[in-house]
Amino acid sequence: DAVQAEPIRVLVTGGSGMVGKAIEQVVNTVEKRSNETWIFVGSKDCDLTDLAATRALFEKEKPTHVVHLAAMVGGLFHNLAHNLQFFRKNMAINDNVLAASHEFNVRKCVSTLSTCIFPDKTTYPIDETMVHNGPPHDSNFGYAYAKRMIDVLNKGYETEHQRRYTSVVPCNVFGPFDNYNFQDAHVLPALIHKAYIAKKEGKPLVCFGSGTPLRQFIYSLDLARLYVWAVRHYEEIDPIIFSVGEEDEVSIQQAVNGVVKAIGFEGEVIWDREKADGQYKKTASNAKLRKYLPDFKFTPFDEAIKHSVDWFVTNFETARK
Ligand code: NDP
Repeated sequence: DAVQAEPIRVLVTGGSGMVGKAIEQVVNTVEKRSNETWIFVGSKDCDLTDLAATRALFEKEKPTHVVHLAAMVGGLFHNLAHNLQFFRKNMAINDNVLAASHEFNVRKCVSTLSTCIFPDKTTYPIDETMVHNGPPHDSNFGYAYAKRMIDVLNKGYETEHQRRYTSVVPCNVFGPFDNYNFQDAHVLPALIHKAYIAKKEGKPLVCFGSGTPLRQFIYSLDLARLYVWAVRHYEEIDPIIFSVGEEDEVSIQQAVNGVVKAIGFEGEVIWDREKADGQYKKTASNAKLRKYLPDFKFTPFDEAIKHSVDWFVTNFETARK
């Protein structure tokens, strides 16, 4: 219709990261629209912790819409060591991106929270109304509080300036272009990298913790389709959880099994139980998403793991690691 055909310019911050690359692939293929221009920027194009640089980026690109992905991101062990830095960098990035969006009259901004910012002590399943209910897990308090403040900014820009700035809440994401560096990777890319090396060197695969924690994982290309939907159709200020269903939660042990199978690793798997487990579970409800998109199909976990492992093996030389 006429509204849909209106030209829009969507600026994607964090466009060089895993989720950004997935959105780029989706809007250049299955979700391509002639009225939409998508612009992907990474930290080399603009350091978003710098307000003047952020303003210059918005001045140059003149976006009508923003997908805000850029963040200092890391797994459990990286967070444990750098909570202050996670808080300060992410606070600066988020404040600058939303301030520039308002200043340059951006109509819609879709920012990114995470299911790991919810209260540590909580009832399950977690839903969108619970973002501010209690302290997050101690391991990532810096990252979590900085993310929560995005929701505070969105409410402020709505009440004082009638802006439609919103946020989405992905569960654990994995896929091509992930960060596979052992020091700061999330659990799945770390496992994929470790299993790859263990297989190559004929050594045991050493996994951290007990294997019992439960997680919901979303494939980056599924998440990308949901972001595109949010840009086009999601009109609320309140956040919406982008996750697979509660029934699709897997244990770390099951995730290890999936990776081992996809890599074709046949050696011994050892569990280093001295290492931290992190939060036992953070089961999130995707009922709100299902209310909007009852027929959305997620890629089955094993199939998505297979795609991710194949990508890593093929792109081993250039992958972030
Ligand atoms: P990546 O680490 O792959 O990408 C992070 C992106 O942020 C990169 O494009 C990076 O740029 C950019 N960035 C970091 N610092 C700056 C800066 N100072 N200025 C400008 N850009 C910067 O992250 P993901 O794609 O995994 O995550 C995207 C979003 O999704 C993040 O907000 C994250 O918190 C959220 N999220 C991720 C989950 C996951 O499991 N991965 C789960 C839930 C939420 P460059 O690479 O060019 O340096």
